[in-house]
Amino acid sequence: MAGCLPLRRLPEFIMANIKSRKVAIVGAGAVGSGLAFALAQAGIAEEIALVDVNADLAKGQALDLAHGAPFYRPVTIRAAAGPEAYRDAAVVVVTAGKAQSGPDQSRLDLTQTNARIVTGIAAEIQAANPEAVVLVATNPVDVVTHVARLRSRWPRGRMLGSGTVLDSARFRWLLAEHCGIAPQNVHASILGEHGDSEFAAWSLVHVAGLPMDDYCSICRKCDFVHRRPQLVEQVRRSAYHIIGYKGSTSFGVAMAMTQIVRAILRNERRVLTVSAPLEGEYGLTDVTLGIPCVVGANGIEEIVEARLSPVERQDLERSALILREHLAQLA
Ligand code: NAD
Repeated sequence: MAGCLPLRRLPEFIMANIKSRKVAIVGAGAVGSGLAFALAQAGIAEEIALVDVNADLAKGQALDLAHGAPFYRPVTIRAAAGPEAYRDAAVVVVTAGKAQSGPDQSRLDLTQTNARIVTGIAAEIQAANPEAVVLVATNPVDVVTHVARLRSRWPRGRMLGSGTVLDSARFRWLLAEHCGIAPQNVHASILGEHGDSEFAAWSLVHVAGLPMDDYCSICRKCDFVHRRPQLVEQVRRSAYHIIGYKGSTSFGVAMAMTQIVRAILRNERRVLTVSAPLEGEYGLTDVTLGIPCVVGANGIEEIVEARLSPVERQDLERSALILREHLAQLA
């Protein structure tokens, strides 16, 4: 199967060697605690360590979550701090940092502060557990992951961002609602920046096993071709709407991140649109963005070079350009 895909195997690829099922989560706020809850429900971790500069918050969240112990598979959930928090963790998830303060603030506005916070955390993880796979969710996730990886010299692929996994899930859900088909039977990806320049890879969309255009030509219930831009804009504005309504997003991202953590802990080699550092793939270098990747025990194990249409290639290049401009401001 894998041989049929245009894959770029990362040079650091090593055989899976999972020693633990411990997950450390840095940042016990809306996203971090949501992830701990979703992970506990998923029953895939043996231990979840919650870390936060606000130690009381970490303690409170851990205690609250631990009280559900009789209702999910065995997992130790506790607050932790210092090197001990990271030691033996197979995956460290970083959700620490500032979130968008309201619907008027973009993810890229958070760049300076969050890049500094995550770089500092990456150094602490490295000192305690250089073997860990580090998954970053802190926004702007592509820029933050890129900078933190370069500054900490983390091996390529073993520090990845949550990318457009959540955006792709939102896209699949909206398409599923539109077509009246279960989201499990809709395969679709949002690529590029996890943010305003992201785009839909329509040429890769499959509904009920059929390419989107073929499905539409059989279905004929609507003039969907004309409605496509509107649907993508809905995906793009999702976070702004949710933040406007309730102040933060947490459940969707927690479930999306659970899929990524599961792929790593179980060495699933699942294709997910995580933030990957590009070194020539898609003709791009010096940028990290959401692209389909094979995710397994070593983090990103391969980058899938999907056959994008010429327009989608341009969209990807535009997204990369915007991210590079933000990276340049941090230099
Ligand atoms: P939040 O304010 O609820 O939680 C952030 C937590 O980080 C706080 O509890 C804070 O005390 C902690 N923190 C800050 N600096 C720290 C440090 N140096 N070490 C340990 N803990 C530290 O925010 P949130 O809503 O949970 O969002 C967290 C981040 O996730 C934001 O940057 C947000 O934009 C991002 N996010 C990403 C996605 C995605 O898909 N990638 C989705 C939603 C939110």
